[in-house]
Amino acid sequence: MITEADLLAKVPDRLFIGGAWVASTSGRSIDVRDPATGRVLKRIADASVADGAAALDAAVAAQDDWATTPARVRGEILRKAFDLLQERKEEFALLMTIEMGKPLAESAGEVAYGGEFLRWFGEEAVRISGHYGSNPEGTGTMIVTQRPVGPSFLITPWNFPLAMATRKIAPAIAAGCTSVVKPAALTPLTTLYFAKLLDDAGLPAGVVNVITTSATSEVSSPIIADPRLRKLSFTGSTPVGVSLLKQAADGVLRTSMELGGNAPFVVFEDADLDQAVAGALLAKFRNMGEACTAANRFIVQESIAAEFADRVTAAVSALVVGRGTEDGVNIGPLIDQKAVAKATALVDDAVARGATVLTGGSAVDGDGTFYQPTVLTGVARGSDILREEIFGPVLAISTFTDEDDAVAQANDTQYGLVSYVFTRDLARGQRMIEKLQTGMMGLNVGVLSNAAAPFGGIKQSGLGREGGSSGIHEYLETKYTLTANPFA
Ligand code: NAP
Repeated sequence: MITEADLLAKVPDRLFIGGAWVASTSGRSIDVRDPATGRVLKRIADASVADGAAALDAAVAAQDDWATTPARVRGEILRKAFDLLQERKEEFALLMTIEMGKPLAESAGEVAYGGEFLRWFGEEAVRISGHYGSNPEGTGTMIVTQRPVGPSFLITPWNFPLAMATRKIAPAIAAGCTSVVKPAALTPLTTLYFAKLLDDAGLPAGVVNVITTSATSEVSSPIIADPRLRKLSFTGSTPVGVSLLKQAADGVLRTSMELGGNAPFVVFEDADLDQAVAGALLAKFRNMGEACTAANRFIVQESIAAEFADRVTAAVSALVVGRGTEDGVNIGPLIDQKAVAKATALVDDAVARGATVLTGGSAVDGDGTFYQPTVLTGVARGSDILREEIFGPVLAISTFTDEDDAVAQANDTQYGLVSYVFTRDLARGQRMIEKLQTGMMGLNVGVLSNAAAPFGGIKQSGLGREGGSSGIHEYLETKYTLTANPFA
């Protein structure tokens, strides 16, 4: 196993523009820290507005050649990148753990998941198709083709540093779009190391460009306002997504928005409780709860609420908190002090309104930004924790009386990303599929993401879908041509 120091030495510390690693012109740098210790891991380039413009110039310059590069070649580069990622999987897992905090086993899971987008979209590249046929009147021939949208700006969050990048970069490459990628300043190292991997896989210069910056809005806004940009794909919080949509409106950009969530986790009295508890652990504590898909509200039928709470508390009390590199750790640090303060405020508010703490309930003293795995029960309606994304290891239980009450509570949010339902009754499960207002649903499962599935939300959780056969269409536009009837 490579040492952390040797790995960090291999990660580029510059911007990746036009196929070259270039210094920033800002004169500033970003210190990337380990959230488990607060220690600086690496100092990297901090892009200026001019660097952002240079990255877009490079993407624009590469666009025409990339759009006409055969789909098979685009697909094979993605396949090569997939293979290289398998060779470097331990390095990527370690890098994510030290810059983001998640336990190594979860980072390994993210490498597997994130890598699948390379393989999936490598396969999809050669399946881009159209339509050729007579119009209904028989007066002409209709030709429908799919064209790459063009230069794209891809903005990613810190919580899944690899998978959120590959979920955008792979379909863009497959579709024939060039891009500028901007990872979060808190966890940029994985994306920089991934750009190196793409370079090693033979991706031509300028097809993917990566800028890291602390001047996020200042650098991003001119890129979004540039008329040569044709697409904005964003994963992050709803308020930032709303602000970016407003900016994108001026250029009538194609947009994909993967935004925040407030997932209900509904447990009916006929559920298999072992299955529900195992699902709860996954849906809530994976990634320390820092996932848009994290179960935010546990809505449990009154008759089994006490038993569910007891069982889940026993499991949560056994979770081990520590630096993600250590053996046996289940819960790493939260990303920063702000995240700890948010979890603290939400728990305190719930308790002030009558909730009971069954385990945990506070931050962990000492270095690093740790919060104890927590279970709350009796969470009252109106508590902030039921309205806001917790983004921390806090499981909040409230109760419902009957199916209508469960549906009403589950849908009582502006978000609509994912829901989880546990029941043994298939007909009830099917009714919930129809009634719950979310883009995705897990029925008796606590985790459902898959590169082959369309990931995305409704309501204020976003626009568009990533992954599956829909994912590549986010980077394609439809062109229709009518030709005169050759027999007329
Ligand atoms: P965030 O604060 O919205 O940031 C996301 C990205 O946007 C980062 O790269 C950030 O850069 C950048 N950004 C922030 N302000 C910007 C601006 N004015 N202009 C351009 N870019 C800007 O979200 P986060 O805290 O990183 O991520 C957590 C959020 O993402 C949660 O709400 C979570 O639910 C959501 N999420 C959604 C999905 C999904 O698929 N639906 C997946 C993962 C996460 P800097 O941080 O460097 O400033």
